[in-house]
Amino acid sequence: MKRRQFIWDTTQSLTLFMLSPSLLTCCNQDDESIVPNGKTAIVIGAGISGLAAAQSLQQAGFTVTVLEAQDKAGGRIRTNRSLGIAFDEGASWIHGPKRNPISDLATEAGAPTFVTDDNSVIVFDSDGTPYSDRTLSRAENDFYDAIQAVLDAGNQNQSFQTVFNSLYPNQSQNRLWKYMLSAYLEFSIGGDLSDISSQYFYDDEAFSGADQIITNGYDQITDYLAAGLNLKYNTPVSFVDYTNEKVMVSTQTDSFDCDYLVVTVPLGVLKSNTITFSPELPTDKTNAIHQTQMGNVNKFLLTWETPFWDTSLQYIGYTPETKGKFNYFLNAAKFSPYPALITFAFGDYATTTENMSDEEVINEIMTHLRRIYGPAIPSPTHLLRTKWGQNPHAYGAYSFATNGTTSNDFSTLAQSVNDKLFFAGEHTSRDYRGTVHGAYLSGIRAADNIIHL
Ligand SMILES: Cc1cc2nc3c(=O)[nH]c(=O)nc-3n(C[C@H](O)[C@H](O)[C@H](O)COP(=O)(O)OP(=O)(O)OC[C@H]3O[C@@H](n4cnc5c(N)ncnc54)[C@H](O)[C@@H]3O)c2cc1C
Repeated sequence: MKRRQFIWDTTQSLTLFMLSPSLLTCCNQDDESIVPNGKTAIVIGAGISGLAAAQSLQQAGFTVTVLEAQDKAGGRIRTNRSLGIAFDEGASWIHGPKRNPISDLATEAGAPTFVTDDNSVIVFDSDGTPYSDRTLSRAENDFYDAIQAVLDAGNQNQSFQTVFNSLYPNQSQNRLWKYMLSAYLEFSIGGDLSDISSQYFYDDEAFSGADQIITNGYDQITDYLAAGLNLKYNTPVSFVDYTNEKVMVSTQTDSFDCDYLVVTVPLGVLKSNTITFSPELPTDKTNAIHQTQMGNVNKFLLTWETPFWDTSLQYIGYTPETKGKFNYFLNAAKFSPYPALITFAFGDYATTTENMSDEEVINEIMTHLRRIYGPAIPSPTHLLRTKWGQNPHAYGAYSFATNGTTSNDFSTLAQSVNDKLFFAGEHTSRDYRGTVHGAYLSGIRAADNIIHL
């Protein structure tokens, strides 16, 4: 996911500064300095929020167990190295690296980063003609004005698309606008234009600085955070009973108990009722689970023997009729030795791709690339792809506000229950939802809430 400059810069946000003391020591603490407090905690989910919560609690003296459904840590931070190149199936960027806690973690973990330049882009019309810099920059300025106009006219019951179409009926059918609406907006928010709230689509916050990509795999950060934790893999939780003093957590075959439970499974998993809570979660929490939405973004890595594109460019844009369809290419050769492009499917088209064969996907992508670079360019040597919507450990890419959602819903998702159940995960971060740093900070917050009971 990439966030463009129209996300508000909140470098001055107090939240991070209030939390930061507990962030930076988490993995360097020598075990002997930890004083056990006799309390136990279980964390469900070994994504970055669960790992952050577990590290903080362990540092504070809790005996912590992390139960993870998959066979490795990281969750939506997931690096596929099967082709040699580190292909991040989920998060790739540190959005706004300045004062962003993930930047410090990347340094501590020894993970190299590369600044991606949003202005290093050529956008091509559907026949392969490049838009001039002037046309693109004018269109982008108009686009940012339109974003503001939708925010001004937005309301709780109408989607972004409804409000936008009524304000800009001509632009809604224009291919360059469709490109910006999906490659910039749907990518950033996660949902389809027809699902995104017209009122609460940009009320979150962001750190400043040009985005950085973790070049050798984002999992370096989650591997670093996972070190020294008691992690139980292949342990999918299906039942939580918090009727009694101890919280009971069960899988189909095992049970565990604890004084405090941190639930960090994605919003999509909460929506799917994979985990039964007894007693049921409070109504305001279940309403918030229902009212917020899980979006979808899919990523496609294609490799070639040698590049046929201008490898000095960071991004290549394309403007097909279908919104969200393979319209944005990240040039991996810019930050790695591999001749590879990463393209994306956004909004409803992200879900459409999940029922397409590899051959169909390659054909569609190559149609776009051949319009730009000519019919003679070779087919890719390999394809790697994601299907986040079908992924039973996430059921989507990241959360967003839809019609009827208010920002308070994200705060409600974060609320603890009976001082026993605590919740973390990107969807519980009102200010930084949908991001790695939001997830990370939410884990620290949940742990702090337990520590300060
Ligand atoms: C395609 C894509 C691109 C993205 N790009 C970026 C980006 O560039 N920058 C950025 O900042 N953010 C990006 N994000 C968002 C970012 O990846 C997430 O916000 C963040 O990783 C979420 O962390 P989390 O801990 O909340 O959840 P997760 O990482 O999803 O962790 C939850 C964990 O719970 C586990 N789990 C699920 N069900 C159970 C169960 N029943 N029992 C036990 N364990 C269970 C899961 O297996 C998972 O490991 C992207 C996400 C996607 C999908």
